[in-house]
Amino acid sequence: MIKIFFAKELGFCWGVERAINLAAQAKNEFAGQVTILKEIVHNRQVVDFFKKKGVGQEDTLDKIESGTLVISAHGLSPKLKEEAQQKGLRIVDTTCPLVENVHSFTRELLRDGYQVILYGEPGHDEVHGVMGIDEANIHLLAEYEDIEHLPRFEHGKVALITQTTRGVKAFQQVCDKMKEIYPEIKIVNTICDATDTRQAAIHELAPTVDLVLVIGSQSSGNSQRLRDIAESICGKAYLVDHPTQIDWSWFDGVDKVGITAGASTPNFAVEGMLKALQAGVGIDVANSDAKLFEYKSFAPYKKNVQQTA
Ligand code: SF4
Repeated sequence: MIKIFFAKELGFCWGVERAINLAAQAKNEFAGQVTILKEIVHNRQVVDFFKKKGVGQEDTLDKIESGTLVISAHGLSPKLKEEAQQKGLRIVDTTCPLVENVHSFTRELLRDGYQVILYGEPGHDEVHGVMGIDEANIHLLAEYEDIEHLPRFEHGKVALITQTTRGVKAFQQVCDKMKEIYPEIKIVNTICDATDTRQAAIHELAPTVDLVLVIGSQSSGNSQRLRDIAESICGKAYLVDHPTQIDWSWFDGVDKVGITAGASTPNFAVEGMLKALQAGVGIDVANSDAKLFEYKSFAPYKKNVQQTA
């Protein structure tokens, strides 16, 4: 039997919960086709849930011609929003207010004449949305190692901003290096609180266990980050969406397992994983307080599932 230790902060954040509730509400309230552009949140099981309820999902706006368009929690570029309005679509915007903040700060910086460097993941929906504000004056920085490939800006107005779900420590390293190059650089830390607290919790948990299971989808940036942090500390960390992805040999010689979940991971995914672990290796939950706290915070989503069934 293995001992399970939960991270103090894990699973759904309020921004994700809000987006799911708004999308479910749109399906309940509006007649006609309701379509989500991209994934409502980066979690396979949540995406499948909406598909089963008859909510459409498209990767590009040109495939949505009528009905209601749901903008995901990660936001959309101003140009695409305008296109959607011109098509006459009813728009339900579930963009997380903290992603909206990144858009507002970026607009302000551009208005004040700054060249903006965005520390973000290439291809991520949030990054697409922010870059779309002004592709010519926003420069994407994917990794610390890429700093040397950024264009050199001769005038002093350079600003650094970040995707909400990037690594806190990694962003600090980027800030330090950028300050060496541009001592006057303006830095706006837009990493959200949910990301910050989940990363702090895994920093605390990982040194105390033999292995960390991060429950979340591969497409979830914040889940990937939790896995990377855990792996760098305890040496063994896996990101799994579903029990079928577990390789039981991971648990050979393991006594203590840490559990965390990305900000877009619903509680039924956590519960499913616990049941599988119980059946597969046998578990004893060591810190049930953390578990109870999370179960309470997941409750509104459960209610929502029942409403839309
Ligand atoms: S992870 Fe942060 S930015 Fe993303 S939805 Fe949650 S609170 Fe909002």
